[in-house]
This record gives sequence, C-alpha cells and structure tokens, in this order.
Amino acid sequence: MHDMNVYDYDRLLERAMDSLPENVVVKERFEMPKGVIFYEGNTTVLRNLADIASKVNREMDQIFKYLLRELGTAGEIDGERAVFQGKIPQTKVQERIERYVNRYVLCRECGRPDTKLIKKNRTLMLKCEACGAIHPVGSKRKKE
Ligand SMILES: [Zn+2]
Repeated sequence: MHDMNVYDYDRLLERAMDSLPENVVVKERFEMPKGVIFYEGNTTVLRNLADIASKVNREMDQIFKYLLRELGTAGEIDGERAVFQGKIPQTKVQERIERYVNRYVLCRECGRPDTKLIKKNRTLMLKCEACGAIHPVGSKRKKE
C-alpha cells in the first residue's frame, strides 16, 4: 500500500500536465524584430520602423518616442523610417528596440507578443490576450 502515494503523485502530475493549455507548455516562438539601420550624412536612419511597429502591433509613434528618449537624441519620422540626429551605433539602436519589445510587448508570464497596453489608475499596464496576465509596465529601469 505504500507504493500507492508514488503512483498517485505520478498520475496527478500527468493529469496536471494534460490540463495545461497548449500555449503554456509549447512556447510560441517570437522573432525579435531586427532594425535595418544605415547612415545618411550625420543622421542615423532606421529604415523599417513601420515594419517593426506592425510586427509588434504598436504605434510607430510610440516606438519612435521611446527610441528618441532612450537614445537621447532628436529626430523625426519620415514615411516608414525613423531618422535620428547623429551617428548612433547599430548595436545600440537594436538593443533599444529589443528593450522596448521586452518591456512593452512581450507578456511576462507566457512570453507571447499578443498583448495590449492599457491604463489603470494612470499606470500603464501590459495585458496579455493569450494568457490573460496583467502586469504594470516598469516606469523605471535600472541605471547603466
Ligand atoms: Zn501571456
């Protein structure tokens, strides 16, 4: 009769695994958008801002403003492109794009990009359409 416990535990575990929704067990692969960056005179051009925005389902303007702030420069949106003042290393721009996606797009729980930004009591929250999780978007990040 002592073996019963072990057996039950295995059964329970098996059943728990079975009842998990598929998307929790099998993480859907999300491809981080890659910025296409080149230089024009003394400006840095991110050629595929519109493309990145549509991939992560966010407004171009929002990503652009984030990048401006993070890169500490001025710039403008030019059609589907973002143009930044000064020559900014490609890796730095890419790093900020990824940071944006990690903070403002990917769900903290399930890692999927099917999220929406909502405001709750003036706090910006990330709501996941896939798993239903809601997390505040960190207003501060640690200093570098
Ligand atoms: Zn989620």
